[in-house]
Amino acid sequence: ARLANQIAAGEVVERPASVVKELVENSLDAGATRIDIDIDKGGSRTIRIRDNGCGIPKDELSLALSRHATSKIATLDDLEAILSLGFRGEALASISSVSRLTLTSRTVAQEEAWSAYAEGRDMEVQLKPAAHPVGTTLEVLDLFFNTPARRKFLRTEKTEFGHIDELLKRIALSRMDVSFNLRHNGKMIRQYRAATTQIQKERRLAAICGGPFLDHALAVELEHGGFKLTGWICTPQGARSQNDIQYCYVNGRMMKDKLINHAIRQAYETSLAPDQYAAYVLFIEVDPHQVDVNVHPAKHEVRFHQARLVHDFICQGLQSALIEGAG
Ligand code: ADP
Ligand code: MG
Repeated sequence: ARLANQIAAGEVVERPASVVKELVENSLDAGATRIDIDIDKGGSRTIRIRDNGCGIPKDELSLALSRHATSKIATLDDLEAILSLGFRGEALASISSVSRLTLTSRTVAQEEAWSAYAEGRDMEVQLKPAAHPVGTTLEVLDLFFNTPARRKFLRTEKTEFGHIDELLKRIALSRMDVSFNLRHNGKMIRQYRAATTQIQKERRLAAICGGPFLDHALAVELEHGGFKLTGWICTPQGARSQNDIQYCYVNGRMMKDKLINHAIRQAYETSLAPDQYAAYVLFIEVDPHQVDVNVHPAKHEVRFHQARLVHDFICQGLQSALIEGAG
């Protein structure tokens, strides 16, 4: 079952934000410390992601793009066919099959950069020299141009951009060491500068979650029995009328998990009214062997082997932090 879960873990390209997610994760995997994201028309026209990561060697560019059997892509009118092949390790190939994708990259060992794009029904990869510093730029134009059914499902420019903005917030909270710039239709919308000190981190926290959250936030740092819990949680005075600031990461991955939510809520005991919500940005670290992530890729759920222990660690740890913060 574990293996099946891992195989099912592929992410779904359902909208521009899912493309941005895959590409930014690739940039982070490549060790980028700066990632620039340019979006036009909510991402339906352009998604351009540029990083200063390690780059892709010229002779691996084609491979990065053309992992799929080409005959399947030529007749594709529905994404389900691609998704059934499993998405992991296939992100670029899959995105490239539903858009006009150009990959430009340079490694530190190369004098010049190269651009690759897949062309025609057979998706043959063309290479040409380009100007680019060390790192990679992925340009995705006209997403779903060849899958009208999918394109029809795109919402307004504003809604799609909103999903991208929210996605970037989640990522930017978990990778404070990386700087991110987000533009929409040529206008700079977000600038998150790389943060290392606690003050810089709290500046980013305020930029993403708002000043009022920071004003009522307690910094948390707990460790017990192989579990680690760090981040920020609001005092009861900082409680919100919606669940709009609830960011929780398990081993660096954003999760929405009932067990964790329950543990956090219980830590407040009776100090939250039924119509009040806790606000938090929390990072849980556990031995990877103690947890199955990807229980469901879209739901961001997680399964702890020692669920009870994790629940009690979170609940009791936060409880004492809140008591301490009140005193
Ligand atoms: P996966 O990330 O699961 O390996 P992808 O299709 O997302 O699959 O990417 C294919 C490969 O292309 C990656 O394994 C990586 O080697 C390379 N790659 C993609 N994006 C970047 C990037 N921004 N910087 C460096 N290498 C990249
Ligand atoms: Mg990837």
